[in-house]
Amino acid sequence: SWGSLSDKPVYDWSSEEEEPDGRARPIQVLLVKDDHTFELDEAALSRILLSAEVRDREVVAISVAGAFRKGKSFLMDFMLRYMYNHASEGWLGVADEPLTGFSWRGGSERETTGIQIWSEVFLVDKPDGTKVAVLLMDTQGTFDSQSTLRDSATVFALSTMISSMQVYNISQNVQEDDLQHLQLFTEYGRLAMEETFLKPFQSMIFLVRDWSFPYEFPYGQEGGMNFLEKRLKISENQHEELQNVRKHIHSCFTNISCFLMPHPGLKVATNPNFDGRIKEIDGEFINNLKVLVPWLLSPENIDVKEINGSKITCRGLLEYFKAYIKIYQG
Ligand code: GDP
Ligand code: MG
Repeated sequence: SWGSLSDKPVYDWSSEEEEPDGRARPIQVLLVKDDHTFELDEAALSRILLSAEVRDREVVAISVAGAFRKGKSFLMDFMLRYMYNHASEGWLGVADEPLTGFSWRGGSERETTGIQIWSEVFLVDKPDGTKVAVLLMDTQGTFDSQSTLRDSATVFALSTMISSMQVYNISQNVQEDDLQHLQLFTEYGRLAMEETFLKPFQSMIFLVRDWSFPYEFPYGQEGGMNFLEKRLKISENQHEELQNVRKHIHSCFTNISCFLMPHPGLKVATNPNFDGRIKEIDGEFINNLKVLVPWLLSPENIDVKEINGSKITCRGLLEYFKAYIKIYQG
C-alpha cells in the first residue's frame, strides 16, 4: 500500500459495476437529477464509511467545491498523490508520470451537479498520536440558471456541513458574485442545522486559480490572507448588501483563509493531449503546489470534523449525511 497512484490504473468510466476489481476510484454519492431531485447512493456511502478499518475513527473530511472546468479534479489528483505517497518528501513523483484519480481531462467529464468521494479513506497518524480517517470529496455545481443555482446551493451546503475543510475553488479573483454564492450556500446550510452558539462550519479556504497579480499580492497563503482581508473588509461606506455578505461569511466559519495559485501554463490549459505529467506544468505552479497540498493535508494541519463541538467518526458522519439530505428532500 506504499505504492504511488500510478500503481492504481485509471478506472473505467464505462463500467456499470462498483469497484469490480477493488481499485480505488471516485464514487458519485450524491447526484442532482435533471428534475432537480436528489439521489443519494446510500449503499456506496455506507460501504466506504462503515468499512471495518475506518468506521470508528474520527474523520477529517476535505471537500473541494466550485464550478466546472476550473481545475478541481486536477488539484484533487495531486492531493491523492500526496496521500498515497504518505506525505513523503518526494510525494510529487517523477516528471513524466501521468496524473490519475478523479477524472479531470477537458471534455471527458459529464457535467453533473453533485458530490463524489474517493472510495479509499486514508488512515493518517497525527503528531499527537491519534489515527484519523481522511475522506476526500469533490463537489460540483453549475451556476448558469436560477434552478441550477438552487441545486448547486444545496450541494454546496451539504458538502460544507459534512466537511471539516471546504476548499472553494475559484478562477482568477474573488468576485462579488463568488461571495454572494457563498452566502447563499452557507445560508442554505445554516437553516438546516440546529442553532448553537458555535459557528456552524469549520474551515473555509478560498483557493484562487490563475492569480495574475503576484506583484500586488504574492502567490501562496500569506499573499492570499492579505488579499482576502482586503476583499472581506467591512466598511461604513460600503453598500449594506456588501456589508451583509461579509458579515455573514465571517459568522459562518471558525477559520477563513486564502491561497493564490499561479496559472499552470498553456499545456495544462489548452492541450487536449496533456496527461498531467509535471514536466509539462509551469515551474511556478509546481512550486506553489508543493506548498499548497501539504498546507491542506499534512498530518499536523488536518482537523477532525466537529458538529456542535463534538468530534465525529466515519460512522457518525454517515448518519449526519443521511439526516441532512432528508431535510433537503423535504
Ligand atoms: P473541474 O471540472 O473543476 O474538476 O476541472 P478539471 O480539473 O477537470 O480541469 C478542467 C481543465 O482545466 C483541464 O483541461 C485542466 O487541464 C485545466 N486546468 C487544471 N488546472 C488548471 C488551472 O489552475 N488553471 C487553468 N487555466 N486550467 C487548469
Ligand atoms: Mg472535476
